[in-house]
Amino acid sequence: MADRDQLIAELSAIVGSAHVITDPTSLTVYECDGATQFKALPDVVVLPTTTQEVSAVVKLANRHNVPFIARGTGTGLSGGMLAVNGGIIIALNRMNRILDIDLANQRAVVEPGVVNLLLTQAVQDDGYYYAPDPSSQQACSIGGNIAENSGGPHTLKYGVTSNHVLGLEMVTTDGEIIEFGGSVEETPGYDIRGVIIGSEGTFGIITKAIVRLLRKPQGYQTLLGIFETIDEASNAVSSIISAGIIPAALEMMDGPVIKAVEEAFHWGFPLDAGAVLIVELDGITAGMQSQVEQITEIFNDHNCREIRYAKDDADRQKIWKSRKSAFGALGRLAPNYITQDGVVPRTQLPKVLRRIAEISEKYNIPIANVFHAGDGNIHPIVLFDERDPDQCERVDAVNTEILTVCAEVGGTITGEHGIGLEKMDYMPLIFSPEDLALMVDIKEIFNPSGLCNPGKIFPTAKSYAKLGLETPNHSLPGK
Ligand SMILES: Cc1cc2nc3c(=O)[nH]c(=O)nc-3n(C[C@H](O)[C@H](O)[C@H](O)COP(=O)(O)OP(=O)(O)OC[C@H]3O[C@@H](n4cnc5c(N)ncnc54)[C@H](O)[C@@H]3O)c2cc1C
Repeated sequence: MADRDQLIAELSAIVGSAHVITDPTSLTVYECDGATQFKALPDVVVLPTTTQEVSAVVKLANRHNVPFIARGTGTGLSGGMLAVNGGIIIALNRMNRILDIDLANQRAVVEPGVVNLLLTQAVQDDGYYYAPDPSSQQACSIGGNIAENSGGPHTLKYGVTSNHVLGLEMVTTDGEIIEFGGSVEETPGYDIRGVIIGSEGTFGIITKAIVRLLRKPQGYQTLLGIFETIDEASNAVSSIISAGIIPAALEMMDGPVIKAVEEAFHWGFPLDAGAVLIVELDGITAGMQSQVEQITEIFNDHNCREIRYAKDDADRQKIWKSRKSAFGALGRLAPNYITQDGVVPRTQLPKVLRRIAEISEKYNIPIANVFHAGDGNIHPIVLFDERDPDQCERVDAVNTEILTVCAEVGGTITGEHGIGLEKMDYMPLIFSPEDLALMVDIKEIFNPSGLCNPGKIFPTAKSYAKLGLETPNHSLPGK
């Protein structure tokens, strides 16, 4: 970077030198997100505390023609916050205040650095909660959730982040401060808020959000079924939905995950089980018991070996802890893992999971599965050792084959982790050159200089070559 010292001096004047990180060791904290296979060092990290400071940093970056990238808490799983071309990371951790809670209207106004779970904790004693619940909710930020349009176990019934965000304040890529949506349900004109949610930090820096709070359901029923095979568990998922039951969550763990979780945390799962299915019903308690009976019958029809019913809230928390601790437990199985993310039609789950097992065998790369079965959002966990270049090559082939299968059965290449750096090569599997050209046009309206989070989302000529496809004539933004 040409004028690094000058840039650092000017950044320090905006946020104070204590909030500008420049030393190489500290910068390594910001070299990757949860997808640790990708690494890139920023030139500098700034930690602003106000929207005005963010705006001033963005204007400065433009004057110096330097890339800038928003970062929440770095739990992303697609390399979205990496400074691939160097530049300034704008870390939003210090913008972590809940600005307003309006229970009468079921709204909260938050800064982007608020950790997801802390919002629920702030309102739970009054009987409210914030519905989007990524499995990383103890660490991820609401700004990051908005940028990725994150989901979670309860997406099946409550939808993804965009269903719970009513209004946004954003610093545009040239440093202006604008607002979209508002605190009421309907806003006239184009739904720009909807376009920004899920734009993966490429349209500007979100500095405030008005989000919806929900009343805690009157009651819950949580069941856990232990199945002999993953096929039987998958068929039980389809049968539950076909019976007209929409659970709040419907989650599955396969044999390798059960084994890892059991060995790490001793929940009492049989080590030879083929799959565990967690079903949670919520809402008005009247009539819920009959749905539990229906699900019990469906489980039994699919040779369920054992059913556990949460007797009270402590039991329910224990069941969820077993699911949410799965990722941690998997860390014991290999030095590295990639949490793949794809979506398939629910009815295709048995076929797709069989194909994934074949791919694992073909490349001799172990794969475990823990996922949101109810919405067909699969998470094959690809286990490997990044120090072995041969394994890394095979892992790349495994990822390509898994995502190709998802696309072939009418699914898609990510359910919730976003495209970022990780999936840009696979965009041609689901989007035509014309689709992508329209997306580029939209991106250029928000981000004409390309300085905001460059090198993400759009495929390059290399991406087409990797998939064995001809490069289209349209100009490629990733070139
Ligand atoms: C163990 C584990 C489990 C997970 N489970 C789930 C899950 O169930 N569901 C799910 O959806 N995801 C899950 N994730 C992925 C991740 O937690 C989410 O993508 C989350 O929303 C990222 O938030 P973050 O604050 O860490 O964002 P970061 O990783 O810091 O950034 C992610 C992207 O958002 C952009 N961004 C961040 N803040 C802003 C802002 N204020 N304005 C504009 N752009 C911004 C960044 O530039 C980047 O492109 C999981 C991750 C882990 C490690």
